[in-house]
Amino acid sequence: MTEGGQNVSCPDKNYHYINISGKRFKRLVALYPTKERTARGSVIWHCRCDCGKELDVSYNELMYSNICSCGCQKKEHDAELRQFLTRASGTSLDMLKSKKNFSSNTSGARGVYRVKGRWMAKIVFQQKAYYLGSYIELDDAVAARRRAEELLFENTVRQYEKWKARASVDAEWAEKNPFEVSVAKTADGLEVRYLPDAYENENQ
Ligand SMILES: [Zn+2]
Repeated sequence: MTEGGQNVSCPDKNYHYINISGKRFKRLVALYPTKERTARGSVIWHCRCDCGKELDVSYNELMYSNICSCGCQKKEHDAELRQFLTRASGTSLDMLKSKKNFSSNTSGARGVYRVKGRWMAKIVFQQKAYYLGSYIELDDAVAARRRAEELLFENTVRQYEKWKARASVDAEWAEKNPFEVSVAKTADGLEVRYLPDAYENENQ
């Protein structure tokens, strides 16, 4: 049972419960017990989240589940990821995930242009344009662009998620090891490096 919790009798209702009023569960603070109970008999507490939203959560859920917030924490994480990707790639996460390639340029494929009778592919990442070659066939240019998207966008999303997962349980590590992406152009094409180092090996 909860540390410092006390059994409190409620004479008019003739039931008792563990008093957790004022106790914090991550972002949630239990305010007062409602008269409601779950099917299993757990008292439902009226709680306030740090974001200001109030909600009812059962004692069992507060004590034994990994509930952290009213749901705002997940929303913040998602927003943070979107913001990071917008900064990193100039492209929103939704855009990356939807894999829609429509645009109003000459080819109809994002990042593929007709230049002097050939198809040019390029990609913009961290506000820099990388040219991916020129091709006679449209399909080849589209494929080159697709490979670059996989390398820069999708891979970066995966790496960032891994970093974020560790950062969420180890803030000190995260502060010492900020997530960084750098792109180098080599003879073979683009090469992406991620910091911290720990993720580089996994990536190869
Ligand atoms: Zn909240």
